[in-house]
Amino acid sequence: MKRIGKKLEDETKKEWFHRYYLVNKKEILERNKDWYDNNPIKVKDQYKRSKLRRKVLRLKRVTLYKLALGGKCLRCDYDENLLILETHHKNGRDDENKNKNILQQPEFKEFCKTGRVPKDIELLCPNCHRNIHHPIEEWFQFKELLEQIK
Ligand SMILES: [Zn+2]
Repeated sequence: MKRIGKKLEDETKKEWFHRYYLVNKKEILERNKDWYDNNPIKVKDQYKRSKLRRKVLRLKRVTLYKLALGGKCLRCDYDENLLILETHHKNGRDDENKNKNILQQPEFKEFCKTGRVPKDIELLCPNCHRNIHHPIEEWFQFKELLEQIK
């Protein structure tokens, strides 16, 4: 490995290391490859384990959030499978948050940071949730239209 001397005055540690990396790129990549070739199972295992760990931690945070929101469907009391319960925004959502999943929602992030439980969010089972967004009247109207077209 070639030395590149001390950190420059206006250089961060990261920038310094990047300079070091560019100078010694070939050797570093070769050394990494050697290590990966000698430890294939270990690497795969570590990767799998960290991926699983992250998934479990993510689910744990979501579960805590859902429990804080009541832990059951607020309309029909369904509470068997917490994984499928959904969050419903009573006052609708801003356009920028429209297509975000639960992990990306600002209310969820806020809960993770401060533990504050949002007031305008209802926990619902998928059935009750769909029923809210597609009310039964909508179906009756549609049925009428179908009969007229026949
Ligand atoms: Zn329900």
